[in-house]
Amino acid sequence: MVARKKAPPAAVASRRPDGWLDHRYWLARAEEVANLPVSKGGSPHPTVHVGAVLVDALGREIASAANRFPAGVDRRRPERYQDGKKSLWVNCAEQMALMQALRGGKKIDGARLYVTLEPCAVCAGLIAELQLAAVCVPVGAMRRYAKLKSKWKDSIEIGMIKLAEAGVPFIAVDVEAKSKKKTGRGKSR
Ligand SMILES: [Zn+2]
Repeated sequence: MVARKKAPPAAVASRRPDGWLDHRYWLARAEEVANLPVSKGGSPHPTVHVGAVLVDALGREIASAANRFPAGVDRRRPERYQDGKKSLWVNCAEQMALMQALRGGKKIDGARLYVTLEPCAVCAGLIAELQLAAVCVPVGAMRRYAKLKSKWKDSIEIGMIKLAEAGVPFIAVDVEAKSKKKTGRGKSR
């Protein structure tokens, strides 16, 4: 007797969960998360807005977050935005998305993380430890963050080495190719 394969949920039934179109779709979604208003979970960071979306093995979104203050921590105090302090108060988008998934009891085996910027050394360490299925980032993501400080660039360099050594696939997605042909940036499907 042949076991019948369980049908995937309707929302993902029509597409492969890991094709290039999906990568672009989820990166557009990560971009959207990065640019949400602060009141809706967007980033309060004055210059660097990063979005991360975690997608499970079946192609369903299980968490999303921007770089922001942790839940319950006061983001309205101006001194917390001073140079050299911001990065101590604001957590990375990847960390927040992973925490959200874990807190919600989501199954992260085989999950992919879509991020608008390459992960820093700390985030890459967490991703390696969780052995996520892949990290997907727009091609040349760092160039799109002109205000990124050099300490972050150094951190990303180490992060990339961590991912490589841990065997977590890193996928650079050409997001511009599609937006030229279709409706521009953001949602196009
Ligand atoms: Zn990070």
